[in-house]
This record gives sequence, structure tokens and C-alpha cells, in this order.
Amino acid sequence: MSGRYTTESGRYVSLAREGQAPETMIVACCDSRSAPETIFDAGPGELFVLRNVGNLVPPYEPDGEFHSTSAALEFAVQSLKVKNIVVMGHGRCGGIRAALSADAAPPAPGDFIGKWMSLIAPAAETVSASTMMTASERQTALERISIRYSLANLRTFPYVSALESKGRLTLYGAWFDISTGELWTMNKDTGDFERPQLG
Ligand SMILES: [Zn+2]
Repeated sequence: MSGRYTTESGRYVSLAREGQAPETMIVACCDSRSAPETIFDAGPGELFVLRNVGNLVPPYEPDGEFHSTSAALEFAVQSLKVKNIVVMGHGRCGGIRAALSADAAPPAPGDFIGKWMSLIAPAAETVSASTMMTASERQTALERISIRYSLANLRTFPYVSALESKGRLTLYGAWFDISTGELWTMNKDTGDFERPQLG
């Protein structure tokens, strides 16, 4: 054995004994280029990571259906009592591209991606209709809108909004620019995404 496992094996032993206590949950896309543990240089036990196509959080709908994202959120907030939730989108997102092209062509192959990305269909239709924007501008716009959409949906979960109003949970938005490796952060007041200030 060599590499990362060797250097972190002691950490796994103590985590197995003491359990996990991450303070931050990250909602990220499945895209292999936007791995939160790599971007944030986090070791085992530091981040509670939820990844799905397009880093989407659906609205709170306790309807008896299969809600894997909502289940992970419930566990992170109710059981682990994370203090922060970061919704991290990224550039060149295939899920977002599928949502934007849903009008022109059938959504992505198979039975599930189109339905999943239809969560942001109203925003996708509005952005698609904007002929003033280039294709790449529409892509970036919807990537960032989807982050704000997921943050709004997080607040439809009663315990999320209750903990946030008590100051015990903080929500953040971030967008990872794959082409430059820069992590843009969302301004809480304006919703704009701001380029990192590198010293
Ligand atoms: Zn993606």
C-alpha cells in the first residue's frame, strides 16, 4: 500500500472509533472534474458530500417517493447537525447542458436524467429564450441560477429554515470554473458570483 491511503490510514482508525462529525455538507455535481474533497483539499471525515447530476436540491416533498437527495440532507442536518451547507455548481456541466437542450432534442438518453433536470425546466426555458446571449453565456447563467434555485429549495425543508433563522446553519453558493480551477463564491446579498481574490 502506498499513496493517500497510507498517509490517512491512522485517521480512518480514529474515525471508525469516534464516528464522523463533519461540520460542512457539500452538494455537488457527479462530474468527475468537480470533486469537492479535491477542490477543498479535505481529508476523510471533514466533508459530508452529496453528489447528483447538476447539483440540484429538489423542493421539500414528503410524498413517499424515493428521494435520495432529501434523505442525505435530512441525515446531514438532523443527525450530523452540520453547521454549513455549500451548493457547488461548476462550469461545462453536462446536466445543465441537457436541461438547456431539452427543447431542441429529447433530453439525455435513458429514463432519468431528463426528468431529474426538469426540476429547473422553467429557468432553462427562460434562459434558452434569451437570444441576446451566446450559448456559453446561457450555459454559465443556468449553472448559476441552478445554484440559487437549490439554495431556495433547501429553505423549503422546515428544519433547514428553522436552523438558519436561529443562526445554527449557514447556506453558501459556489461555482467551480473547471477551465481555470477557480472557485467563485456567491455573494449572499446580491446572489452574484464573485471571482476569488488570490493573494
Ligand atoms: Zn455537472
